[in-house]
Amino acid sequence: MIPIPSSDQQLDFLSRLQRLFNEGDFTATYKFALLAALADLSVELGADDGNELDLSVRQIGERFIYLYWRHTLPYGDGRNGTAPDTLVQNNGTQAAVLTAISGFRAQSGVTTPQMARAHPGYQALLTSVARTVASQPLKYLQNVGGTTDQFLYEGVERGRVRLKRGVCYCFRRFYPLVQQLVRSHWIGHIKANQRNFSILGRSDDLEAFLFETSRESLVVFGGLLRTLDGPYCFYCRREMGPADVDHFIPFAHYARDLAHNFVLAHPGCNRRKSDSLAARPHLERWLERLTKHQDALTEIGARIGLGGGPEVNRRVASWAYATARAGGGHGWVAPGQYESIDQGYLCCFA
Ligand SMILES: [Zn+2]
Repeated sequence: MIPIPSSDQQLDFLSRLQRLFNEGDFTATYKFALLAALADLSVELGADDGNELDLSVRQIGERFIYLYWRHTLPYGDGRNGTAPDTLVQNNGTQAAVLTAISGFRAQSGVTTPQMARAHPGYQALLTSVARTVASQPLKYLQNVGGTTDQFLYEGVERGRVRLKRGVCYCFRRFYPLVQQLVRSHWIGHIKANQRNFSILGRSDDLEAFLFETSRESLVVFGGLLRTLDGPYCFYCRREMGPADVDHFIPFAHYARDLAHNFVLAHPGCNRRKSDSLAARPHLERWLERLTKHQDALTEIGARIGLGGGPEVNRRVASWAYATARAGGGHGWVAPGQYESIDQGYLCCFA
């Protein structure tokens, strides 16, 4: 097993990443999508050691399709003389990935990335997106200040790219930080593009539009969850009237919506749990439910475009608790009641 990177090496990763954001050339938003994809795939496919991580460009391309899918919808409220339209994500003509996805959506009538995968035209879309990923962001991501700093990977070879030793570890360790950097720069890029001025106006929900599952979809999903789980709060087990759809692993920890990660909770319980991980009794119950309802959850998730699958979600949860354990985190038991996340939590995943 390859040892994990030292503290100095981890700091070095962060400062080079920071430099990439500050000095990199971002003509399109692709590099942000690439960093988000590499961080997601590190969490979902990597492990807590210093090993390299081998990825195919098509795997990254699939993540691009997922990330840009909702961006093809028109944005804006049309008030104050603005006109809702697809946001422009390139300084020249519209980003090719967005154009390709828009074309596919118009032609196929498919509404979610999950449904898209089953469509006969999907492989051609993926090939074209993967080609763009290889020839643009993967090629240029590490160009900073007139030089190339290949600290993440060396290059694309036979449709694959290999994250260097320690890189996957650092993406996992600093995941929330990486996602926050990606999002704020991505939003900044869109806002700075003059051709978006007439679309944006004063709309202030750009972050939710770009990165979160729509409220309408969550309402539909909540209804389906109620049929599956009954009218009881996942945390306090008491009966509910109106319910919130709660991220079991909080969105602040892992910023991709996965069907199996959602549970129904009292709005009060949801609010009080907030960005904490749930304590062990909740975790055990959630893992049981994951096994018991894995197919049903996959199916209802697919209806509103939530993917991931039970195994991915289990790995994400295992990563989230291991990271919290390493950082001295606490689990939320009930309002005002927390317990320290100890080794016993990690045994739940054995
Ligand atoms: Zn409750």
